[in-house]
Amino acid sequence: NETVRLISSTQVITSVSSAVKEVVENCLDAGATNVDVKLEDFGLEKIEVRDNGCGIKVCDVPYAGQRHYTSKIQTHDDLQLLTTYGFRGEALGSLCELGDVTICTRTKDELHSTLYTLSSSGIITGTKPSHAPVGTTVIVKHLFKNLPVRKQFYNSTKKKKEQLKLTEDYLMAVSLAHPGCHVHFSNNKMLVWQKPRASTVRAALVSVLTSSVARNMVEVHKKDGLISVQMFLPKNLPSRKNPHRTFLIVNSRPVRDKGIDKILRKHANGDDSGWPVCLVIIQLPTETVDANVNANKTQVILSQKEKVLELIESMLVDFYDASSR
Ligand code: ADP
Ligand code: MG
Repeated sequence: NETVRLISSTQVITSVSSAVKEVVENCLDAGATNVDVKLEDFGLEKIEVRDNGCGIKVCDVPYAGQRHYTSKIQTHDDLQLLTTYGFRGEALGSLCELGDVTICTRTKDELHSTLYTLSSSGIITGTKPSHAPVGTTVIVKHLFKNLPVRKQFYNSTKKKKEQLKLTEDYLMAVSLAHPGCHVHFSNNKMLVWQKPRASTVRAALVSVLTSSVARNMVEVHKKDGLISVQMFLPKNLPSRKNPHRTFLIVNSRPVRDKGIDKILRKHANGDDSGWPVCLVIIQLPTETVDANVNANKTQVILSQKEKVLELIESMLVDFYDASSR
């Protein structure tokens, strides 16, 4: 039984970057407008994420670290109308299993915060009052301490840097989905990246890309029924030698999609080779999006995929092909 739990935990939390992703998603689900991610030794020693969200109610804390506990959905129907990142109730429980977890939290109804220590099975083993403002701080120390092979795998300079990059990449993507959120990211007390609170997507783009790249981007919109697409496309083609990535956001969820990448590459670069810097934001009726495909929710299934692709393609044709190229 314990082995089974360990195995499934290792599939939710595969790396430092996936651990950060899960914890940050909880901050955003809690309505945070400020998220501070601090790593020590690239997250292998310590991952600390502080938010100014709603906090966890005293009565909910005993459940938060339990596997399959979620405060976010109650019924099967809720799963179809999902608007939160979390719904599986696996992240905190898995983190408890794979590292040493403490949670400091305070709701607006409490006069002080409380610091909880959790056991590997997510049970509270220590409670003490503390002085933090409203919000939650989750600390995970010694991630993968019970998985020596994985720990060693990630314990090289190359892997550490790779994880730092992936974490930064995720934070950038999620920042574009939440322009109003201030995100701060450091490792060993050195700033890696940050984004101030922005009032528009374009302003957020300046923090994510450099301002010269962002200035080169043109915003286009189009709607088809209940599908709405907003894209930021590069005016001039980026150099092939300098490939960039596509940011894709579906209903506020940063995701990846090969089909959409492919048509972006085709139109924005004239062929299938390089990667343009693009931001694509798609809004769809919640019930037409299935985010419950893989444990880390980086993939989505769209029931109106063909229509979405057609819409994007028509926008790209208007923007690039029609403008004399
Ligand atoms: P899920 O996000 O799928 O519900 P998690 O294991 O990630 O599951 O979190 C379990 C529960 O802990 C959440 O449903 C929520 O109630 C609570 N929680 C975790 N992190 C936070 C946070 N930063 N702020 C408020 N509540 C949180
Ligand atoms: Mg979660």
